[in-house]
Amino acid sequence: MRFATLTRQPDDPLLKIIGQHAADPRPDKIDLGVGVFRDEEGRTPVMTAVKAAEARLLETQASKSYLGPEGDTGFVQALGRIVIGDAVPSDRYVGLQTPGGTGALRLTAELLARAGVARIWIGSPSWANHAPIYRQAGVEPAMIPCYDLTSQTFDLEGFLAGLNGAAEGDAVLLHGCCHNPIGIDPDAAGWAAIAERVVAQKLIPVVDLAYQGLGDGFDSDAAGARAILAAVPEALLAYSCDKNFGLYRERTGALFAITPDADAGAVVLSNLLALARANWSMPPDHGAAIVRIILEDETLTAEWRDELETMRQRLESLRAMLAEGGRIGTVDLGAVAHGKGMFATLPLSPAQVEWLRDRHAIYMAGSGRINIAGFNVAAVGRFHDALRDMAA
Ligand code: PMP
Repeated sequence: MRFATLTRQPDDPLLKIIGQHAADPRPDKIDLGVGVFRDEEGRTPVMTAVKAAEARLLETQASKSYLGPEGDTGFVQALGRIVIGDAVPSDRYVGLQTPGGTGALRLTAELLARAGVARIWIGSPSWANHAPIYRQAGVEPAMIPCYDLTSQTFDLEGFLAGLNGAAEGDAVLLHGCCHNPIGIDPDAAGWAAIAERVVAQKLIPVVDLAYQGLGDGFDSDAAGARAILAAVPEALLAYSCDKNFGLYRERTGALFAITPDADAGAVVLSNLLALARANWSMPPDHGAAIVRIILEDETLTAEWRDELETMRQRLESLRAMLAEGGRIGTVDLGAVAHGKGMFATLPLSPAQVEWLRDRHAIYMAGSGRINIAGFNVAAVGRFHDALRDMAA
C-alpha cells in the first residue's frame, strides 16, 4: 500500500479563482486571473496566421509518422534565427523542440543537475512553477527578493547583492522580457550589469523567454536575452511560442544551449536528446509545424507579426488607461503603466484581493497579480472605481 504514504497536495489556487469566476452571476464581473491574452471582447482567438498555416498543414501533411526527440528541426532553426539572431554564431548553439516553455525549463533543470549544478538563483517573486521545476530535478532554487511593489521597480542592486552568495558554476534564472508576475524588466544598463556579473562569477544563465513581442516589440524584447547570451561561453534559453503565437494548448516551445564551440554543442545536444527521450520521447508536432510554416513564409510571417503587434499595442494602451487612475490608496497605477507584457502585481493584501472579489466581482490571484489583457475599456473604469471605494 505505497500510495497511502502520499499526502494530499494543495489545489492550484488559480484554478479555484477560475471556478469562482465562472460561478459568479454578476454580469459585469472582471477576470484578471487567468494568464492568457484576451481581446476587447474577452476572447482568446486563434490567430489568423495560425489558422492559415493549419489549413496548409491539413492539405500538405502526408504522414504523422514519428519525428524524433529533437522534434521539428525546421522549426528549431527558423526560431533560432529570429530569437537569437546574430547575438551568437550558429555553430555556437544547438536546439531542440520541447513541449512548451515548461518542457524547455524542465530540460534545463535536468541538464544542470546532470552537469553537477547544485543551485539556481532566481529573482523573487517569480513564475510560480520555476522553483518546483528546479527542485523536482534536484537543483536547489535560491530566491533573491528584488521587486518593490509599491514603486513597481526591479531592485538591480539587491539582485546583484543576492548573487554575491553564488558559487562559481551556479545557474541564474533570468526572465527575458515581460516578467511574470511583476511586469518589470531590467533596462539596458541593468542587463549589461547582470551580464558583467554573470561573466565575473562564472555563472550559467538560464533565460526564460515566454512573451517575446508582447513588451516593447519583437526584437527589443530579445535584447536583454541576446546581451546575456553574447557575453558568456555557456547558457540556456527556454523559449515558449504559446503566448506570442497564441498556441497555448498545443504546447510549443524550444530549448537552445549556447556552448563554447560546435564540439561542446554536439555533446550537450546528445544529453538533451537523451533527457527528452526519457521524459516524453518526442514532443507534440502540431504547434511547431504551424510555427515553421509561418516562419518559412514571408507573407504569413508578416501577417503574424502584425497580429502580434496589435496584441502588444492593446496591452500598452490598457496600461496607459489604467495609469489615468493615478495613485489610489496603496496602488500607484502610474507606476504600473511602466511595466511590460501581460502581468503586473499590485501591492494588495490577500484580504483586499478578497474584498475586491466579493464587493466588486473583480477576480485576481491572491498575490495581487493581474492579467492586463483581462481588462477592456469599461472594466478599467470599474477597476478605478473599485480601488477608490476600497481606499475610501
Ligand atoms: N515561463 C514563464 C515566465 C511563463 O509565464 C510561462 C507560462 N505561463 C512559461 C514559462 C511556460 O509556458 P508554456 O505554456 O509554453 O509551457
